[in-house]
Amino acid sequence: MSARILVVDDAPVNLRLLHAKLTAEYFDVVTAEDGPKALAAMEREAPDIVLLDVMMPGMTGFEVCRRIKADPRWTHIPVVMVTALDLPEDRVEGLESGADEFLTKPVDDLALFARVRSLVRLKRLMDEWCMRHETSLRLGSTQQGPTLAEERGDGARVVMVTEDERLRQRTLSVLPRDEHEMFALPPGPKIIEELVALRADLVIVDLDMKTADGLRIASQMRSHDATRHLPLLILGRLTDKARLLKGLELGVNDYLMKPLDGNELRARVRTQVRRRRFQLRMQATHEASLAMALTDGLTGLYNRHYFNSHFDGLFKHAREHGRPLSVLMLDVDRFKSVNDTYGHAAGDQVLKELAARIVKGVRSFDMVARMGGEELVIVMPETRLVDAHRAAERLRRAVADQPFSINTPAIDLPVTVSIGLGGLEVGDDAADLIVRRADEALYEAKRTGRDRVVLREAAGRTPAVAVG
Ligand code: GH3
Ligand code: MG
Ligand code: MG
Ligand code: MG
Repeated sequence: MSARILVVDDAPVNLRLLHAKLTAEYFDVVTAEDGPKALAAMEREAPDIVLLDVMMPGMTGFEVCRRIKADPRWTHIPVVMVTALDLPEDRVEGLESGADEFLTKPVDDLALFARVRSLVRLKRLMDEWCMRHETSLRLGSTQQGPTLAEERGDGARVVMVTEDERLRQRTLSVLPRDEHEMFALPPGPKIIEELVALRADLVIVDLDMKTADGLRIASQMRSHDATRHLPLLILGRLTDKARLLKGLELGVNDYLMKPLDGNELRARVRTQVRRRRFQLRMQATHEASLAMALTDGLTGLYNRHYFNSHFDGLFKHAREHGRPLSVLMLDVDRFKSVNDTYGHAAGDQVLKELAARIVKGVRSFDMVARMGGEELVIVMPETRLVDAHRAAERLRRAVADQPFSINTPAIDLPVTVSIGLGGLEVGDDAADLIVRRADEALYEAKRTGRDRVVLREAAGRTPAVAVG
């Protein structure tokens, strides 16, 4: 889907020019010739990105930007300030008003397209987060947080990768100490580890280095989990435009030009830091609310609600791709007597320890959920019944072979479980069918003596597996 760009400029010739350039690159372009019309277009057109002229009669671009960023519906929509004045103060004011980028007129085509594309990527990511955030709000498990524009952009640990001592000194002098902490690193084979050890919040890589290729460092950063999402700027020369653009393709967030302009550096660092913090917070809220809504407080396992919503997807995927899928129903034997004899607290401890043993005994992509009481379900994607059977047998032993240590009262308690097993079969048209087979098999295991695994196939054969 092509991104929709709102272009705002009071000069018709500029509007036509940007319209033509962006349309030729397959963007969907809408235009507005002043601030109020721009705000109306925000309501009507739901653009993905806004390109905003600064100097306009009536309402300036700064003011339009402030209004966009103050509205919770629009705060995450990237705004690019397009300024005719090449004054560093303007750039700073632009970014202070919440703009995400700025471009100087006359607008350089390649830089324009590269920035717009990287902002489209950002916008898609933000849309995703906002959607999840709204879900959390609906679930009542989070509060509306501050907007992107309210996020703090200072106090970051900024690391400059360079061989150039003068550049390092210069950066130190232009990034005020009270705003950020600044570190310098020469390139080297352990650069990723060093960045991690420094707990960098943002990295600037110099492209003019003799002993290392700055773009290679950028690409390494993007392929390591620990640095994949770190804000990353490259520092190059106008004459080396091809490499700057290559950097953007590699996932660099932005570039800076030499000679380094202090205001520009400060502004770009602030934007990146702010954006990253916003994303991290969205992520944290999302994870916390998910954890609350979808997991069981006692055992930490997924709850029935999560199982129901997730299992359907696993079932459909397996069926459509002709992949195996197995389900284990597990129930503690004579659990009521544990409660009756040792008390409910002891019963709870058994359930916790049971959950830990089961989770330890399955693969990371198997799903373990507590269906209620002392009954667990384990879903094993990509697993044939015969292999699930082996796994079930292993889990049964992991419980039975070692008594459970309880501390209220302090006793070692033997515990056993019964497990019923079902799998996806040709012709299954509902996820329920597998669960029902596993349930029936579990019932069979209980009936025939407990502490055992029983497997059920559709035909109704129940080859009970005796253990002992
Ligand atoms: P069976 O071998 O047939 O499964 O016997 P059972 O005693 O395990 O079966 P039943 O379903 O009759 O008993 C389940 C018991 O689990 C009843 C209930 O008191 C207990 N239980 C359910 N949830 C919890 C819980 O969260 N904590 C504790 N301690 N006990 C629970
Ligand atoms: Mg103008
Ligand atoms: Mg039971
Ligand atoms: Mg039960």
